[in-house]
Amino acid sequence: METHIADRFKTLASAADMESVLRSCVHCGFCLATCPTYQLLGDERDSPRGRIYLIKSLVEGKADGKETRFHLDRCLTCRSCETTCPSGVQYAQLLGDARELMEQALPRPFPDKVVRFGLKRLLSHPRRFGWVMGLARAMRPLLPAGLRDKIPASVAAGVLPAPRHARRVLFLAGCVQPVLRPSIQAAAMRLLDGLGISGVVAPAAGCCGALNHHLGDGAAALVQMKANIDAWWPYVEAGSVEAIIATASACGVELRDYGHALRHEEGYAERARRLSELVRDVGEFLCDELGHGIDERRLALQSLGLDLTRERGKVAFHAPCTLQHGLRRQGRVEDILRATGVELVPVDEAHLCCGSAGTYSLLQPDLSTQLRARKLSHLQSSGPAYILSANIGCQMHLAEAAEVPVRHWVEWLDAQIHGGTSC
Ligand code: SF4
Ligand code: SF4
Repeated sequence: METHIADRFKTLASAADMESVLRSCVHCGFCLATCPTYQLLGDERDSPRGRIYLIKSLVEGKADGKETRFHLDRCLTCRSCETTCPSGVQYAQLLGDARELMEQALPRPFPDKVVRFGLKRLLSHPRRFGWVMGLARAMRPLLPAGLRDKIPASVAAGVLPAPRHARRVLFLAGCVQPVLRPSIQAAAMRLLDGLGISGVVAPAAGCCGALNHHLGDGAAALVQMKANIDAWWPYVEAGSVEAIIATASACGVELRDYGHALRHEEGYAERARRLSELVRDVGEFLCDELGHGIDERRLALQSLGLDLTRERGKVAFHAPCTLQHGLRRQGRVEDILRATGVELVPVDEAHLCCGSAGTYSLLQPDLSTQLRARKLSHLQSSGPAYILSANIGCQMHLAEAAEVPVRHWVEWLDAQIHGGTSC
């Protein structure tokens, strides 16, 4: 699509990238069929093609931005359109640049600003978030039912294995997940420990930056990304870790995109690119470590202590958009689950988002709730005992309305091997 960036936007660092992505869209419309918001709303402006058009009008100086922002705010950043697009349009990259541009060029109304400021300052700082969650849990019995459902009970992490192996991987410290479910990372560390790999957490690392990035605060996201790079680089430079493991697929996508996000940052661009190459989702990493083919994986799981003779019933796996469309690692977790002998039930519309999408469930509650109801009807249609997922956001969002427990799959697998209370 031919694009002529307006003079006032030509000096932006992202101008050339935006123009290149805009030009790569050939307007075929294939992406409309797999876009959750277009499926719900039937409005072209709430489809990938429509949003690309709106962004084009914005950067060409032909739109005031209000209509563009309204429809970009409704986008889940689920990247389903990227998986479908035959022309390889890098939609999420364009969306991120456009959101940042709009936050600067078109100030939001004051109440909107306050909400977004609060979310950024609270959710991406685990100490602050932990304090608020502790208070909310203490007051839970006094709260109305609707609010009570949003406050999950605290879960113990369980025993963390000492870093005893020569083979080591870095784990992301994260922000929301260690407060809501510390058991996820601990379960992943126990599983890897059984395979002779120790997980370490760099004390100075923290939130991956995704929350600020998706709320259009690129500057704050860069600060968090640089802090992580500074915290991890000594391990990478010394060759003491072989991968950076993300146990939340949304964080995995953000980490994998550090190379792009920091491409203009002096002193960080090359390190960011190298770190991005080391990022692995825990499912992808574990699947490779367990071996090739179901028989080899079954033997490896048995050597970890899994009783293969035990009846495990049915589970439904919800593949987060960040895992299937962002990281393009669909099928790896399912391969591990099948090797345990559990019955993995088929799930219709598995490519569609559950409506969680970071802060989307808080900022777009109506659309988010509709998507969740649709997703849960498919996940629960075969009567699974558990719904499993690979991202804390999806897990918490689905759990609020699900009829069966919702867990991260590593928690479930860890409980099958080591017992414990998380499942
Ligand atoms: S499928 Fe790709 S090329 Fe076609 S309209 Fe959608 S984004 Fe553009
Ligand atoms: S990211 Fe998801 S919601 Fe947004 S345009 Fe693409 S498919 Fe639609």
